[in-house]
Amino acid sequence: MINSEVRVRFAPSPTGALHIGGGHTALFNWLWARHNHGKFILRIEDTDLERSTKEYEQTIMSGMEWLGLDWDEGVGAGGDYGPYRQSERLEIYRDYAEKLLASGQAYRDGEAIIFKVLPGQDISFKDIVYGQIDVMSDGLREKDSDKLKDIVIINSDGMPTYNYAVVIDDHLMKITHVIRGEDHISNTPKQILIYRALGWEVPEFAHLPMILGKDRKKLSKRHGATSVYEYRDMGYMPDSMFNFLALLGWSAGDDKEIFTRPEAAELFELSRVTRKAAVFDMDKLNYINQEHLKALDPAVRLSMIKPFWIEAGLPVEEVEKERGENYLAQALTLMAGRGKTAKEMSEFADYFVSFEPVKKRWNAEGLDKEKLKPFFEKLFALPTWKHEELEQAARDFVSSIEGAKMKDYAMPLRFALTGMKVSPGIFEVAELMGREECKKRLSFYGLIA
Ligand code: GLU
Repeated sequence: MINSEVRVRFAPSPTGALHIGGGHTALFNWLWARHNHGKFILRIEDTDLERSTKEYEQTIMSGMEWLGLDWDEGVGAGGDYGPYRQSERLEIYRDYAEKLLASGQAYRDGEAIIFKVLPGQDISFKDIVYGQIDVMSDGLREKDSDKLKDIVIINSDGMPTYNYAVVIDDHLMKITHVIRGEDHISNTPKQILIYRALGWEVPEFAHLPMILGKDRKKLSKRHGATSVYEYRDMGYMPDSMFNFLALLGWSAGDDKEIFTRPEAAELFELSRVTRKAAVFDMDKLNYINQEHLKALDPAVRLSMIKPFWIEAGLPVEEVEKERGENYLAQALTLMAGRGKTAKEMSEFADYFVSFEPVKKRWNAEGLDKEKLKPFFEKLFALPTWKHEELEQAARDFVSSIEGAKMKDYAMPLRFALTGMKVSPGIFEVAELMGREECKKRLSFYGLIA
């Protein structure tokens, strides 16, 4: 395979949305293509006409786009080796089946065409991830019988089977590396027999480890969201999802865990993929997402959070008109590192957009307003509204009162401005919100005249 361009493919069946396993497979193919400056191809395996739909095809493609997995050839991108939908390649499959019939390597059984498996053939292969896999064709013998299991290649309804179509397509599309889930390992020897029968070179195989839930059972609905889209809707960033999926069964070799797409493509090595099943760990995803949110450019972070504020019915546009976009971007910069997802961050920072949620959360019950008033008077008497000065004035005030503690005053201030027990430094919040807005909120609670 020296000097030949690396060509890999993702070959989903459009019978459901892009799930975690599919996204993972697509991503590893993408990484290998980009690492080698090769080609990434999207082929749609829609021979199951009853279960395949164009809608699913669309959702799979938009899921890939969301993850940032662009493809160079295939459905939606064109290319020299199309068509890229199996349902549009039926004649091709028929032609090669005829060849196998003519050479005596296949036979008819009614309308179906069956590939003959001969005994005594070594169909072992070396998987890039799993290493040497030894198989003899006799291993395909039917249970409790000396009859070899032949391989149906064309069903009686005229549709090709997976194990057959995949070989024809991978060969004609000049695929150099077949990268797919480990559940396909047992199919590989059958496919090798068909390559050989047609006199074709066998590509390299790299099977990817299974993805398990935390209980070490195969990932399923029981473990939570299984489709890539559900994570988008929960407020995970595509960059984080990409980063997280890349680490399922692969590591860069050092402790580096947070990377961008180009960094991952540069570092990726198929030979470093582990065969040990990978565990889908939400805590890790949350950590990765938080790191990516932290590192974002403020304007981009704002664009990620905004839809969640709007969905919550907050007047984002009015605030932007009144105070400029920069106000909300700055607010989120203050929030950096808080909130695991964009959605959570939007909830933690809602008070910057509106006072309404604050009022819902806090009613100042049991507050000794008379004790607090002189404190706030002192703050509002300051000539400027800067956090350093606000904090200094607060400290001076507290130390002038016997037994008083900073938190006795800072907490009511925090509650009145944010309605929350935790927030970024409250004087920084106050400075950014501005004197007028703070005054409005404090006077609503009767803390300032
Ligand atoms: N359509 C098959 C699947 O979704 C493709 C397997 C392969 O990559 O060969 O499992």
